Formats: sequence, structure tokens, C-alpha cells
Amino acid sequence: MTSTPTIRPRHRTLTVPVGAVPVGGEAPVRVQSMTNMDTADAKATATQCIALAEAGSEMVRITVNTPEAAAQVPEIRRRMLDAGAEAPLIGDFHFNGHLLLSEFPGCAAALDKYRINPGNTGKGKRKDLQFSTICAIARDQGKAVRIGVNGGSLDGELVDEEMEKGGGSAEEILDRCMVLSATRSVELALAAGLHKDRIILSCKVSSPSRLISVYRELALRSDQPLHLGLTEAGMGMKGLVWSSAAMGVLLSEGIGDTIRVSLTPRPGGDRREEVQAAWELLQAMDLRHFSPSVTACPGCGRTTSTTFQELAEEVQDWIRERLPSWKEEHEGVENLTLAVMGCVVNGPGESKAASIGISLPGTGEAPRCPVYLDGKLFTTLQGQPKELAASFRSLVESYVKAKYPRRTSRLDPVRVPA
Ligand code: SF4
Repeated sequence: MTSTPTIRPRHRTLTVPVGAVPVGGEAPVRVQSMTNMDTADAKATATQCIALAEAGSEMVRITVNTPEAAAQVPEIRRRMLDAGAEAPLIGDFHFNGHLLLSEFPGCAAALDKYRINPGNTGKGKRKDLQFSTICAIARDQGKAVRIGVNGGSLDGELVDEEMEKGGGSAEEILDRCMVLSATRSVELALAAGLHKDRIILSCKVSSPSRLISVYRELALRSDQPLHLGLTEAGMGMKGLVWSSAAMGVLLSEGIGDTIRVSLTPRPGGDRREEVQAAWELLQAMDLRHFSPSVTACPGCGRTTSTTFQELAEEVQDWIRERLPSWKEEHEGVENLTLAVMGCVVNGPGESKAASIGISLPGTGEAPRCPVYLDGKLFTTLQGQPKELAASFRSLVESYVKAKYPRRTSRLDPVRVPA
């Protein structure tokens, strides 16, 4: 049987350097994230930037909304570099970006990319002038810009004009406005002297089906790299599913050069979840491999104990913990696959398909857990859940040492992405 590639070739885009990280062209689809600290608090913001970068965010965006925030950007950068976090830093500007970047040259210099929302750069004649001021600063500083159109803050004058013209439902006209706003803004940025290879585009909306149609149109009309993200995706499961549904379709069509999963965190929640979600999405699409994957069955009436669920969770958490040092020491470890299965129905099959798989006994089955290595039965474990977990971890640890060669030089794959 001949297999048809499930992912279409990448939509051809220019390569835009964001600091030391190329985006678009032949570069892998990049992962980025955004802080939710008050940027005027340099210590707290830098701490979160470092955590996001260490979790695998290849670029980190911060809000720059006030003079106090702009004044702290160089300090945030310094703290990140001191901690070894070299992820490019992106400033998110609305309304007063032209003023902040002009009045705080240290801020303009410390950032690697400026995000401009063309719907929020001013009104009337000042709108284009203020947009062009930011582009001219980016040109002079050699920085990249993201022209980030957002459905929630579309240029009102453009919308009025297009509504007047008609030609479709209100939603269709709004979607057309988004693409028009992006492409016209590119022309304006070029007229301000910004080079084509310094411009990234995005057109975010909060509806997956609209996001898909807007980006398809954008990809037809532009060869600038595209930043994908479902804006205001929401909390927890809803945010994850909606973001994956929308971005999964686009990525499978080769559209998208960098992604952000905009999850609303629980109060006090961990901001790094949006980085983990982006990793999982790219890994699920087979676009990039960041971390060993764990296949676990959902469980059913054939397994009434929770042992396999506990083991699957423990293995997943343990891998996350071990990953940074594995990646430093063992080349290719991100391709490791594990299976933790609940009974004999699919257990041996999935376990054989993984690098290492364990099939736990279902209800009424003999209390033995066959473990398969590279498709062959290696051993059979028995015992209480804690002992089982310890034995399985030790097998995985030995497998990693044996299968993945030690790196000859120290590399940090998170900070120097593939
Ligand atoms: S492997 Fe067994 S326990 Fe798991 S879902 Fe399938 S039948 Fe149920």
C-alpha cells in the first residue's frame, strides 16, 4: 500500500530572523508564548520569561504598555541572559507603541521583535503615521515586526468602508477586512523602509472555522511567515481542543511558521502549559519531536483498577522531569515512545509498537505485566503499583542509556532548537 503524506508541503514563506531564531522558510514551526506578569515588575516578568524559555518556548512575548514597563525591558533582558535564557524577547504594543519605542531606545534595542496591531495604532491620519513610526524604528534597529491583526480590534475605518461596499455576510466581510488589514499594513511597513524579510503576519480570531478560512486566504496572498494562534481560546479543555482543531487543520495544509496556544490559565495556574500544549500539537502532527511520547489506553470495563492510570500519569510526569538532562546527554531521546496499557486486548499490540511498552493485567487476568522492548517480550514484571513503577522507570532509564548515544558536546536543545 502506498501511503499519502498526511501533511502537505509547507506553504513557502520568507525567512525572518527574530534575534537568533529564524522563523519561516525552511525553519521548523516555532513555539512561542506570552507572559501574564506586570512588565513593570522586571523580576517577576523575567522569572516567568526564563521559566517559559526553559520549558521550550523558543520566543517569549511580553506586554509593553506603559513607560514604567518600557523602562524595565532592558533589565528583563539582562536577567534572562544572566540565567542563560537566550529566547528572543518580543514586545507587544498597542495604542502607544510609537511613543514608547521612541522615548525608550533601550527598550527598542533590547527587544528582538515588535508586535503591532494595525487596529490599535491610532485614528484617522495619525493611524498610518504612528504605524510607520514603529516600522521605521524596527528598520533602524534591525528588528523584526509582527503585524498582528485581531478580530476583536479590527481597524474600524476599514470595516466601515468594506461594510459600505457589501459583498457577503457580515462575518465574511469581517474576515475579508482582516486579510486586507494585514496585506495593506505590509505595504505600509515596506513604504516605511522595513525589509520584507523582517515582517511576520497574523490574523487571529476566536472561532476555529473562521481562523481556518482567514489563514487559507492569507497564505494565498502573502509569502510573509505566518504566526498561528486562536485568540482568546479559553480555559482548559475547551482552549486546548479549539486551538488544536483550528491549528491542526492549518498545519496539515502546510500553513503556519510559528504557533502560540493562547490558554486562559486557572488562577495561579502554570503559564508553561501553553508551551507544553504547543509542543504536543506539533508532535502530534509529526512536525517536530520534542519529547518522548507516552501512549496510554483510556481504560474501560476490562480494567477496574486504577493502576495503569496511575502508572501512565507517573511515567508522563517522570519523563517531563528527566527530559532536560536526557536531552543534554542523549542524542535523539525525543524519539523514544512508551506505551502503558490496561489489558490484554490492545496491550501487547501497542506495547510492541512502542520502544518500551508495558501491558498491565485487566480484571481477572493473571497479575503479570509483560514488558516489550523494540517489539520483543523482554521481561514480565509483578508487584504492587509502586514497585511496578520503579521497575518500569529503571528499565526506561537503561534503555535510554543503551539506545541513545551520549552527546559529544554539551548542547541545549531547548535554547538551540532544531
Ligand atoms: S487496552 Fe484493554 S483496558 Fe485499555 S481500553 Fe483497550 S480493552 Fe480497555
